[in-house]
Amino acid sequence: MSSEHQMDQSQLLLTSAAATNKMIINKKKKNQKNKKNKWRKYTSAAKNGAANHTYDLVSFEELPAYMKDNEYIRNYYRANWPLKQALFSIFRWHNETLNVWTHLVGFILFVGLTCSNMIQVPPVVEFFNILTTWYVLFIMHYIVSCYCHSSFGMDITLPELEVTRWPFFVFLGGSMFCLLSSSICHLFCCHSHPMNILMLRIDYVGIAVMIITSFFPPIYYIFQCSPHWQILYLSGITIMGIFTIVTLLSPVFSTNKFRSFRASLFVAMGLFGLVPAVHAMVVNWDDPSRNIILGYELAMALSYLIGTLFYVTRIPERWRPGWFDLAGHSHQIFHVFVIMGALSHYGAALVFLDFRSKIGCETNM
Ligand SMILES: [Zn+2]
Repeated sequence: MSSEHQMDQSQLLLTSAAATNKMIINKKKKNQKNKKNKWRKYTSAAKNGAANHTYDLVSFEELPAYMKDNEYIRNYYRANWPLKQALFSIFRWHNETLNVWTHLVGFILFVGLTCSNMIQVPPVVEFFNILTTWYVLFIMHYIVSCYCHSSFGMDITLPELEVTRWPFFVFLGGSMFCLLSSSICHLFCCHSHPMNILMLRIDYVGIAVMIITSFFPPIYYIFQCSPHWQILYLSGITIMGIFTIVTLLSPVFSTNKFRSFRASLFVAMGLFGLVPAVHAMVVNWDDPSRNIILGYELAMALSYLIGTLFYVTRIPERWRPGWFDLAGHSHQIFHVFVIMGALSHYGAALVFLDFRSKIGCETNM
């Protein structure tokens, strides 16, 4: 055994060690390559999956329990959609499309009314006034023409600037808040159960805010010369409104079981308005504006009452389940009547402003 043999052995050992190292490195590289391929496959599958997922509309039976509210609307539901998909569904046909758009159009209309009154551009104000007056005239012609007809020739002119205008804008702000929150509610209520609960509460709070703020122009302008009555009625409706909002925000009353109770809270707030209304009629019985104001307010009351009847009875879809899924169901009709009621009240608010600008009062605030 020579030194030559020892060298051969050490060379052999070195080459085998190098070979093992190479194998290990190759194995590592292969593993990394496999991992990369796996990840690529996974991500492309995920991408394809997302792209292929069209978020199909489902039937009433396929809905999660929290969304099963109206069994007479059979199809075209969105269920558990991500927020992005829910947002863009504003441009898709489903059973909430018209619910979203009816109040969104109403909101845009009230933004127009507010801006035109704020910046005082006569042609714009005139346009919106004509639009509102036309609607109320149309209603009145068929409903109460015998009673109020003689007064409708009266011009609704722009009030003079010195009249206090904030109660008028409080009402416009309340209406915009209600209409916009309703649209948002109908758009996103399909996202998840917690979101659904939150959206429903915001929707009801919006309605309550609109009712409360509607009382501000009539009470403020009619009782402007009797501040004690003005403060009593305004604080009364505000306290009642806050009670309603707190009740609506409590989780217990947000369930389906309390649907009628929630509706009755709104009716109670509306009926509360009868007290200052009767009082105002007694005080201003001889005023020439009386008939036209009564006409507008009657149109408002009728609009809200008819709208609520549709909302509670679920007519017409209960007569033909599945026929009115996309268009014509009770909630859409309710929305339209809400806008008509708000427009009637806007018409009345203009008359209140006009009335106070002509008669005036020493106690202008
Ligand atoms: Zn609604």
